[in-house]
Amino acid sequence: MNLPNTPEKWAIHLSKLIKVFHEAHGLDRFPINVAGIARDYSKQVFPDAPITMIEGMDLSRKFEGAMLPHPSGNGEWGIIYNESIESKGRINFTLAHELGHYLLHREISAEGLKCSSRDMHKWNSEYGQIEAQANTFASYLLMPLDDFRDQISSHPIDLDLMSHLADRYNVSLTAAILKWLRMTHKRAMIVVGKDGFIDWAWSSEPLIKSGIFYRGRQEVIPLPVSSLAEKQDMLIDNRTGILHPKGIWLGEEEVREMTIFSELPDQTRMTISLLLYPDDAPGKWDRDLDEPPEHDTYDQFVIGGQV
Ligand SMILES: [Zn+2]
Repeated sequence: MNLPNTPEKWAIHLSKLIKVFHEAHGLDRFPINVAGIARDYSKQVFPDAPITMIEGMDLSRKFEGAMLPHPSGNGEWGIIYNESIESKGRINFTLAHELGHYLLHREISAEGLKCSSRDMHKWNSEYGQIEAQANTFASYLLMPLDDFRDQISSHPIDLDLMSHLADRYNVSLTAAILKWLRMTHKRAMIVVGKDGFIDWAWSSEPLIKSGIFYRGRQEVIPLPVSSLAEKQDMLIDNRTGILHPKGIWLGEEEVREMTIFSELPDQTRMTISLLLYPDDAPGKWDRDLDEPPEHDTYDQFVIGGQV
């Protein structure tokens, strides 16, 4: 049997099996039961290296999960997740991420892999290639494109839709937003704030093409003073958001901002803002005549944070 050899192909391969199985048994396809699939699939297809343990452990907050070989060397594998994490969606994403490591990397990482919350953010960097592959696998397994497209077609893009997607696939809100940003033709960005500063941000490809993204850098960047995330104006319905005039957020354009506020267990004030820019960049026609603006997606400002 020819097995898949890329994160996307692995996810599509498993997705098809899951879909057929669920249709045959009249079951709901979503959310995906990652633990069940990891055990059943590995036992059937890799009987010499089955996943026999999937357990939560009380790990330090820095760690999300791990994929480890059985210490006896009997060939079995285990997946561990950090049970102190409250978000079920984050744990589900971590399980899928570790299953990705198992399928793609267990032969090159015979000692296993331990993954930090930082690793769950690596999508493009070469340094984090293994992590980026596990994230891509997890994203495609939990949120297959066919269903994702069906869910968003003919719906306005707002945080209610993103919350619906997060519930449907049992992933965090940020994972659902990142998935949408990676496939959309719209110009949009997610900005996650912590205690008034930008913790990380991610722009869709069309927005990067118009030069609007936060570059990776060490310095701290405060949330814009007049942003919804910073003002927390109770008179505004933050889920449908507000249309800002130019100059509040990056770029000289009007921007619709929708924001969700929360407080983390350590009392950090967290904000998740979805920014929607107009479909057409200003001066698009002028710029098309010139060289395209220099940009580098590897350079996007994605540090720390939690998916
Ligand atoms: Zn990892």
